[in-house]
Amino acid sequence: MSGSNARLQAIEAVKDYTPPAGIVPESGAPGDVFGENVFSKSVMQKRLPKLVFKSLMGTIEHSKPLDPTVADVVAAAMKDWAMEKGATHYAHVFYPLTHLTAEKHDSFLEPGGDGSSIAEFAGKTLTQGEPDASSFPSGGLRNTFEARGYTGWDATSPAYILDNPNGKTLCIPTVFISMTGEALDHKTPLLRSQQAMAKQAERVLRLFGHEHPDAVVSFAGPEQEYFLIDRSFFLSRPDLLNAGRTLFGAKAPKGQEFDDHYFGAIPDRVLGYMLDCERELFKLGIPAKTRHQEVAPGQFELAPMFERSNVAADHQQLLMTTLKRIAQKHGMECLFHQKPFEGINGSGKHVNFSLGNSTEGNLLLPGDTPHANAQFLVFCAAVIRAVHKYGGLLRASVASASNDHRLGANEAPPAIISIFLGEQLTDVFEQIAKGGAKSSKQKGTLEIGVDTLPVLPTDPGDRNRTSPFAFTGNRFEFRAPGSLQSIAGPMVTINTILAEALDFIATELEGLTAEGTEFNAAVQKVLEDIMAAHGAVVFNGDGYTDAWPVEAENRGLLNLRATVDALPQLVTEDSLELFSRYGVFNHHEMHSRYEIGLEQYILSVGVEARLTLEMANTVILPAAVRYQTELATNLASLKAIDAELDTTTLDEVSAAIKTLRAGIATLRAEIGHDHEGTVEEQAAHIQGEDLPAMNAVRAAADELETLVADDLWPLATYQEMLFIL
Ligand code: ADP
Ligand code: MG
Repeated sequence: MSGSNARLQAIEAVKDYTPPAGIVPESGAPGDVFGENVFSKSVMQKRLPKLVFKSLMGTIEHSKPLDPTVADVVAAAMKDWAMEKGATHYAHVFYPLTHLTAEKHDSFLEPGGDGSSIAEFAGKTLTQGEPDASSFPSGGLRNTFEARGYTGWDATSPAYILDNPNGKTLCIPTVFISMTGEALDHKTPLLRSQQAMAKQAERVLRLFGHEHPDAVVSFAGPEQEYFLIDRSFFLSRPDLLNAGRTLFGAKAPKGQEFDDHYFGAIPDRVLGYMLDCERELFKLGIPAKTRHQEVAPGQFELAPMFERSNVAADHQQLLMTTLKRIAQKHGMECLFHQKPFEGINGSGKHVNFSLGNSTEGNLLLPGDTPHANAQFLVFCAAVIRAVHKYGGLLRASVASASNDHRLGANEAPPAIISIFLGEQLTDVFEQIAKGGAKSSKQKGTLEIGVDTLPVLPTDPGDRNRTSPFAFTGNRFEFRAPGSLQSIAGPMVTINTILAEALDFIATELEGLTAEGTEFNAAVQKVLEDIMAAHGAVVFNGDGYTDAWPVEAENRGLLNLRATVDALPQLVTEDSLELFSRYGVFNHHEMHSRYEIGLEQYILSVGVEARLTLEMANTVILPAAVRYQTELATNLASLKAIDAELDTTTLDEVSAAIKTLRAGIATLRAEIGHDHEGTVEEQAAHIQGEDLPAMNAVRAAADELETLVADDLWPLATYQEMLFIL
């Protein structure tokens, strides 16, 4: 027998685990339930008058403005549908600037004057709500005396019924804005940026001869990584419970032999969980496809099919809530922290994105005619310009305390934002960059509008896992976002910087053709210019080598290692100008996002620092001292009988305790300065002083974990948490 009581109990609980009943449906394929709880297109088609349906589809599928007169009819149909399905309440769901989802619930039933109640849900109730905004971060946008915020229906993201043990609620995805119309959430800027990007993309399409291009949208397919651990371990560790990551824990020894007795249960339990999740997600209309990921023990991945980016962002939030909820049902905890365990891989959320419309399809798909190819290259070049010009903003869009543990460590893309194009596409762009001058080394120069691209593999074999921004055949994959964050932030940035690049391209092409340049020659010139100015961002090599940061610096690429280095990118003159030009954020809103970013950083590291101090003092030190006493008692007994004394272990333990105590003293002193100065100064202090002090405490504690008798060690070990499921 080994392990402290708490650990033993946790292990016993795992052994006794039996799967909850009813996971696997009695009948029917998982696909049968798809969209069951969604007010979907087909439900609307059945329930809405033809004209109302047509008008709403115009908004949903072709980005037409919402006709306010349809709201009453839609609301009534939505309410009837939801109540028939057993819903009693409705909620405006919004996405405040935390990584959480917020809901304001109201009952459909309103009291009639005579003591009865009537079901009410007017168009105005559907389209607008008024939750108290005072408890959400606003970065100074909302004065405390004006607590009101408004929610507004996003008709393009489907309403759905959330089926909880406590009842069923009709959920309506909404934006969340202040009295003055300023964005307090993730969705508002996403919709604005989507519109800005679409406008410029459509301009480019018109230049390519599509007279009335259908509305362009951006698509996102996020790959969610997560860890599963047994919930008993989770509940036994204050760090996991309060900070979402382990603040202590010696690495599991390599090549450790694990008890087959525990090991045998893993696949069944996790598979049962995955099936259950998939079914729940399907009901909500989320096209999940599950799979196991081998990277780290206990780590898995779930990638739903890509969708329009605002819908994908909503679904992603819902997916995270669902994964967490179902995990608890199976006696497990789902961890979304970017780095729950030191020394093994962290979790990311790769965001795959593309743009397109119903007539042209995917604009990032290489074509098979010279004309389609020229168009593809132009959209690709827009991405190259955007990522080069605004790499700092992309870096800032993924900046958080928890992602700092991942970016730049050799497991995730470096903090330097570069683009991987693959050999073939790079070659194509290099040929373009050479312009008219034929080079003997190259196959020749590529003439836009004449030559067809070599056939590019849609799933290139030469996948480069070290690049933060990679072309993968028909889309780009932004690999820097963290597992915990909403994908809305990165998508806002991508849409906006693409709007700028496409605007630039359209303006250049218009100018050149107005001067009489033939269209293909104009395209050739614009592509050449873009490669000359922005080609430095293309890097196909290994981003993990020591040589890359040096080369990147020579190329003039930013290397913003940590959150405090990255966030100021949000408020440079360039960024402020960019976001306001495209109507995504005004200066005020940008400053508020910057402040909220810093505040969140200070808050989350601050909590970790205090937790480290508390756990070191009240959990680790007592265990170590107990063991020290035991060793000292042993020596005293030996001495009493004149036996040979060996103080090696006691000396080692005492030395580690001394180091731990010194670390604790330093950390306590640093925490004492946490609230001094401006937010910038506080963040810098936390990064520069608290984090290293926490690391020092952890190092001493982790050393003690390898010294102290196992039956005295109070915290579930890495080995237990990662391998017992
Ligand atoms: P990987 O090989 O990168 O692990 P996955 O199959 O796990 O790929 O995930 C790929 C993700 O990219 C999925 O969410 C998928 O739907 C999405 N995806 C595929 N095509 C596109 C596209 N054209 N635009 C945006 N996302 C896409
Ligand atoms: Mg991927």
